[in-house]
Amino acid sequence: MAETADVVVVGAGVVGCSVAYYLSVLGARVKLLEREAIGSGASAHATGSLSLLGAEFSPGPSFEFALTAYREFPELVQRLEESTGMDLLYQRRPSLRLALDEDEEYLIKDLMSWQQTHVAMKWIDQQNVHEIEPRLTQNVRGAVYEDESAQLDSYRLNLSLAQAAEKLECPLQLREVTGLLTRGSRVVGVDTATGEVSCDTVVIAAGTWSPRLGEFLDFSIPVTHLKGERLMLRYGGAPLPVLISSPKRGHMISRLDGLLSVGSTGGRDYDQEDLFRGEDFDRQPTEAAKIELLQRAIDVFPDLEEAELVHHLAGSRPLSPDRMPIIGPVPGWDGVVLATGHSTKGIHLGPLTGRVVAEYIHSGRCQVPSLMEAFLPQRFAALAGADFHASGRLVEE
Ligand SMILES: Cc1cc2nc3c(=O)[nH]c(=O)nc-3n(C[C@H](O)[C@H](O)[C@H](O)COP(=O)(O)OP(=O)(O)OC[C@H]3O[C@@H](n4cnc5c(N)ncnc54)[C@H](O)[C@@H]3O)c2cc1C
Repeated sequence: MAETADVVVVGAGVVGCSVAYYLSVLGARVKLLEREAIGSGASAHATGSLSLLGAEFSPGPSFEFALTAYREFPELVQRLEESTGMDLLYQRRPSLRLALDEDEEYLIKDLMSWQQTHVAMKWIDQQNVHEIEPRLTQNVRGAVYEDESAQLDSYRLNLSLAQAAEKLECPLQLREVTGLLTRGSRVVGVDTATGEVSCDTVVIAAGTWSPRLGEFLDFSIPVTHLKGERLMLRYGGAPLPVLISSPKRGHMISRLDGLLSVGSTGGRDYDQEDLFRGEDFDRQPTEAAKIELLQRAIDVFPDLEEAELVHHLAGSRPLSPDRMPIIGPVPGWDGVVLATGHSTKGIHLGPLTGRVVAEYIHSGRCQVPSLMEAFLPQRFAALAGADFHASGRLVEE
């Protein structure tokens, strides 16, 4: 007899596991299908920074979604930790977005002009920066200080979502989805190497691999890979009291396990050809990135000359043409929902994506939740060929 489920979720990254978790909370019969391992895509490689600063969010729905997502984290983390017994290494800290040159100061102040209408932040000068963290470079011109930011371990978040969903009777199966089953304009299930699964709804949360499933729908899912590398260092000094970032030099975060994360490489580091390096998800750490990241870190925090390199991570982000997620039904089809293209913010936005997708499916897919409206796939329906160059090169983190 054919296997059945209410919903099949394709992909067990943070986005797919969030969808599966929230659907299970609502009582749906869900199957979560993953071709390799939990977090084997971008999600296990991410810094886990939950920050509203930076150029990633724009005024309007993008920022509103990010703010709501940020505010839901403390309760979600508590629920996941209670359910699984895992420590997600979640830390709530103020952040400093540093300017080391004139361009950075201009960019940061420009963003601040609209960001400060939503969250409290202020520009502080070099002296104030050094009062907070005297070990930062003397070349710092100033920074935006923001009281609201956080960071957690993205892999632990991924694992705990999967485990909490499993406790709610949502099985994770290591099976690659090889096709979509359709009847007329309705998706009625998925095909896998080990048989078909019939269902009412398929959620495509396959990160950078999502476009392959779009081929079965004749809908071009505009997502490509944007490589990112970062380093974890062991440093003997006291942990940084704030989360640090700068537009050109990336982040520097003391994690709760004692390691210091620095990175990441992104669009700003690649020329036009290299941006799309590799045909597929690229998890190969490179010597060039290591040297570049260490140099940037030492520029900001000279004491790191003495730090020891513990891990070097590399993964590819699922980049969309406007760097915003693609969430909602596929135009012309019933029974299939996209949850992909989260670009540089899939850890921050993944859980809220899971909640709104679950509520949408649970409501009978009658009404698109208002939070989802700006991210619907139909915004790309008329796109002849996606141009990722501009969106990729704007990526800072
Ligand atoms: C270096 C780096 C730093 C980052 N830092 C941050 C950060 O600080 N904050 C933040 O919010 N975001 C960050 N990101 C971005 C974030 O990692 C991604 O946006 C997010 O992980 C995307 O999650 P996902 O679930 O959509 O995709 P993925 O995690 O890639 O998961 C997709 C899953 O689908 C599976 N799959 C694919 N095809 C199939 C199939 N046919 N059948 C079954 N399974 C399939 C894959 O195996 C994979 O496990 C960072 C990324 C990188 C690389």
